[in-house]
Amino acid sequence: MTENCIFCKIIAGQIPAKKLYEDDKILAFWDINPAAPVHFLVIPKKHVSGPAALAEEDQDLVGKLLRDGARLAKENGIDHFRLVMNNGSEAGQTVFHLHMHVLGGRHLTWPPG
Ligand code: 5GP
Ligand code: ZN
Repeated sequence: MTENCIFCKIIAGQIPAKKLYEDDKILAFWDINPAAPVHFLVIPKKHVSGPAALAEEDQDLVGKLLRDGARLAKENGIDHFRLVMNNGSEAGQTVFHLHMHVLGGRHLTWPPG
């Protein structure tokens, strides 16, 4: 657990979150400030600060995030969805524990702002 990391605290149960899935490697929970009717986050239990900090040994973990995110989207009623990972503040990253946004349930415009 990394000090002062809000998502590590959610994983440790020190901050409550509305969970939708958990196993030994990942946790999925609903975003506190949803940007779409369906908006949840899928995070690794291992602290990684963001996409640029991924190591070679994390490749399977990222594949699992993506596959489980897509499965959970379908299980929560959306066949059309967007997967987003922000890297760095200019790209919109505000929490520096790797997370994949899963968004859907409305028409999503492209490109993003
Ligand atoms: P970022 O902007 O870093 O890509 O995404 C961070 C996301 O985490 C935001 O969508 C924000 O609403 C969400 N978030 C931040 N703090 C909390 C929290 O304590 N609980 C939950 N469920 N979501 C959070
Ligand atoms: Zn963390």
